[in-house]
Amino acid sequence: KYAILNGKMIARSEAKVDVEDRGYQFGDGVYEVIRVYNGKMFTAKEHLKRFVKSSESIGIYIPYTIDQLTESLEELIEKNKLHLGTIYMQITRGVAPRNHAFPTADVSPTLVAYTKEVARPEDSLNSGVKTIIMEDIRWLRCDIKSLNLLGNLLAKQKAADEGCFEAIQHRGQDVTEGSSSNVFIVKNGVVITHESNNLILKGITKDVILQVCTDNNVPVEERTFTLEELEQADEVFLSSTTSEVMPIVEIDGKKVKEGLTGPVTRKLQELFEREIVKQCGN
Ligand code: PMP
Repeated sequence: KYAILNGKMIARSEAKVDVEDRGYQFGDGVYEVIRVYNGKMFTAKEHLKRFVKSSESIGIYIPYTIDQLTESLEELIEKNKLHLGTIYMQITRGVAPRNHAFPTADVSPTLVAYTKEVARPEDSLNSGVKTIIMEDIRWLRCDIKSLNLLGNLLAKQKAADEGCFEAIQHRGQDVTEGSSSNVFIVKNGVVITHESNNLILKGITKDVILQVCTDNNVPVEERTFTLEELEQADEVFLSSTTSEVMPIVEIDGKKVKEGLTGPVTRKLQELFEREIVKQCGN
């Protein structure tokens, strides 16, 4: 398999960075994960726009246009004969003697992309997943898709330790998001999810869901909701690039309704699949 490192297509096994890469030492960079269905990228433009935005928000400037990035990722998919999977890409501030302050402008960023074959999580999409609730201990710029993921990792590991798929995080009484997903509740037919501000990552999947809701007259509210609303919800689901529209059937050992995927969640799963087919065929 191949990877792209700083604009060059090389063998995946040859893709190496220096120990003083600032991504390695400080997590000083940002990343994206793009889904590939049927050999085609889903919502590529949205992901690449977010990549540029995240990157520029920490003062790293990507030396390629979105069109150039798209073209080289398409080349990578083809080279790796990727049919169903993901592209991981990240950019760091580059290699420089270790020092917290940014290096001088002559240091160029390190940009890498590689692919992985990933099936769709059919079983979980059908039966739903279990979750735990935990305090959100992350920083206040969760809108940046930063390589610094310690808060997210600790949350995900606690969920894993308890045999769960995801941790639903909250700040005080307010539910924010999962460790690697956005969280939605459904109450009386209304779909509710946290507004996209500095406390959550503006999920590309979340935006697709909001759009299909609007297009199909499913009432939706983008606003903060509380732990109490979570507990009293008719349906709960999470969304991410790899999890798509994933039903949550248990929270902290308590079943959501009867522990079955709810009708609104099912409908959104169907509408989401239609978007996949629209963009990537089947
Ligand atoms: N929030 C966090 C913290 C995430 O890591 C992710 C997954 N990248 C998401 C939300 C969902 O974002 P997306 O739908 O773009 O994958």
